[in-house]
Amino acid sequence: MKIIFLGPQGSGKGTQAKFLAKKFNIPVICPGVIYRQEIAKKTKLGKIVAEYLNKGKLAPNNLTNEIIKKRLKKIDCKKGFILDGYPRNLIQAQFLDKITKIDLVIEIVLLDKKCLLNRFIGRQNCICGAVYHLKFNPSKKNGICDKCGKKLFIREDENPEAIKKRLQIYYQETKPLLKRYQNMEILIKIDGSLSIKEVKKAIFNKIIF
Ligand SMILES: [Zn+2]
Repeated sequence: MKIIFLGPQGSGKGTQAKFLAKKFNIPVICPGVIYRQEIAKKTKLGKIVAEYLNKGKLAPNNLTNEIIKKRLKKIDCKKGFILDGYPRNLIQAQFLDKITKIDLVIEIVLLDKKCLLNRFIGRQNCICGAVYHLKFNPSKKNGICDKCGKKLFIREDENPEAIKKRLQIYYQETKPLLKRYQNMEILIKIDGSLSIKEVKKAIFNKIIF
């Protein structure tokens, strides 16, 4: 199964992507996580990306495309993969079509923007890619990652103003993507306003026969 998860940040798509990945035993690939790891390891790539992110910009398409291409070649992607946070625009989607064939695109739809903003308040991240929420999805030990035991942090770009701006860009850039995948008849929409459990059930019901 080669799956793309689309949805604004805060829609819970990352959490849902992980549930599905576990079910199929395939990896979740998220360029943001790869970038943060590279930055933490101070690699050459990490330094390049850090320059963009420090200016509040996204990494350029060609850089992200190459990262994904390289990642999809790894052996753990043989059975499939889930992309979370990629493609985020038409250029990336066209590139992706050239390197692989996607089976399914799941869009987590959240109509209530206020609810979306609220979900950000209380979000905690780990360098390993795990995301927690103080209210909706707390870690077992406060401030510590369940999976790797590292200290959780709040992302600098997760303040209300930055989020509003990101959401705006997200909707603008994803519109043509949704149209594209709808035309390809591989898009399914899931109501993301339900609880994590209910959303999970809705997704599993749609794709597991
Ligand atoms: Zn962790």
